[in-house]
Amino acid sequence: MSEIERLRNYVNGTWCEVAGAEYLDVHNPATAEVLARVPLSPPGEVDRAALVAAGAFPAWRRVPAPARIQCLFKLKALLEENFDDLSRTVTMENGKTLDDARGEMRRAVENVEVACGIPTMMMGDYSEDIAPGVDEYMIRQPVGVAALICPFNFPGMIPFWYLPYALACGNTVIVKPSERTPVTMQKVFRLLEKAGFPAGVVNLVNGGRETVDAILDHPAIQAVTFVGSTPVARHVYARAAANGKRVQAQGGAKNPLIILPDADVAMTTSIVSDSAFGNAGQRCLAASIAITIGEADGIFLPALAEAAVSRVVGYGLEPGVQMGPVISPQSKSRIQGLIEKGRQEGAELVVDGRDAVITGYEKGNFLRPTIISGVPPGGIIATTEVFGPVLGIMRVGTVEEAVNLVNSGEYGNMACVFTGSGAAARRFRYEADAGNIGINIGVAAPMAFFPFSGWRDSFFGDLHGQAMDAVDFFTQKKVVVERWPKEWARKF
Ligand code: NAD
Repeated sequence: MSEIERLRNYVNGTWCEVAGAEYLDVHNPATAEVLARVPLSPPGEVDRAALVAAGAFPAWRRVPAPARIQCLFKLKALLEENFDDLSRTVTMENGKTLDDARGEMRRAVENVEVACGIPTMMMGDYSEDIAPGVDEYMIRQPVGVAALICPFNFPGMIPFWYLPYALACGNTVIVKPSERTPVTMQKVFRLLEKAGFPAGVVNLVNGGRETVDAILDHPAIQAVTFVGSTPVARHVYARAAANGKRVQAQGGAKNPLIILPDADVAMTTSIVSDSAFGNAGQRCLAASIAITIGEADGIFLPALAEAAVSRVVGYGLEPGVQMGPVISPQSKSRIQGLIEKGRQEGAELVVDGRDAVITGYEKGNFLRPTIISGVPPGGIIATTEVFGPVLGIMRVGTVEEAVNLVNSGEYGNMACVFTGSGAAARRFRYEADAGNIGINIGVAAPMAFFPFSGWRDSFFGDLHGQAMDAVDFFTQKKVVVERWPKEWARKF
């Protein structure tokens, strides 16, 4: 039997074992096989990486932006060459289907492509003669050392909402992947190593909560990005901000979709079930509650139930599989518990996916798609992020009631409307309190050239990841007022 790989950190251009660290097993959630062991880096390892990154910063920021992005062009080529292997790795450690993993890696590559525009995106502003002989301009300079703290559900994509922008803007970076899905970043860093970044510019520190807290407290780290659950996002935002860092923290979600009776039945059913059950519901943009308006309930409930029952569940590397397992046995039993609590609160289990056993993968953390109808407002299924393949259904009479219900929740990551009516869609777009809106779209994931938004308890901060928001976040503005009186110019 081959020995299980112990993952390493990458600091100062060198792969290193973490002396004395506790190691966690990383499991394939479909097979329960141990894929690797990940170190939980202690604070001393964060200190080493932060000092290395701070030491590499002065030279890296002096590399002209057009030269810095040459490393990104190289990285893009390397990601393309290794696209299949990276996608398979995502499936093996996260459980999502290979198609979903490819979609994830494609979005990672798109962010590298957009960040190649940094020489233009980082340009400043100039005003001549703000007073006689006086000019004023704004230039953007990198912030320093940035740390990126990542969740388990998109191990390949989410670091790329930030990484290429931070580097191209002239910052040095520490990436802290989820300890549950650290293998993809281990492979990405082998490519970053070949892409030509000088030693210390980009660093990988594996670990868990103690590692995160050491990042939040480290004085050499100036900027922190976080993506994960709301309680931890709140903690990260408060602690990093109290330490004087700039911080953005994306949190959890509870995404409602409203369905009008005039929505196209086949298209809506397919899109809503892909949103609710794709990635086994472990997406921050997963449909979580469908709010049917008027007669829509009678039309869509049977169609959605049929789609849920017929979804093919299995190992994501196998062809034809449409939904994989959830991340861990603990996650599976938490989801089962929420479904049971929802049932006890009076909701009806229309499709019960709690007991899924997949032949050949009996040790996997499988559930099947579940639909719970008649969910009471304020109940557990209406308010809690399930993060599993569970779609709750609520009924209302009017668009106004639906919008009120959408806006009564704590979260504001995504809200979607399905309709053939432009007026209803416009009203929804205008009034729904959510950062990402879908109109006849079930996973309203912004392209890399838009910010990845999120409002209310789904986001703490002001600037988001991706595109110009990332450039604003990873640069600080310097304003220069300059006097060259005209009489001095007469000499020349
Ligand atoms: P998580 O909050 O458990 O973990 C995220 C990161 O925080 C990990 O790196 C982990 O090591 C660290 N961490 C965990 N507990 C900590 C603690 N107590 N103190 C300090 N650090 C801690 O999230 P997860 O389960 O990995 O990811 C799923 C969550 O992420 C869901 O809530 C999902 O909605 C959310 N998410 C949000 C977005 C978004 O854009 N809003 C995108 C993806 C995922």
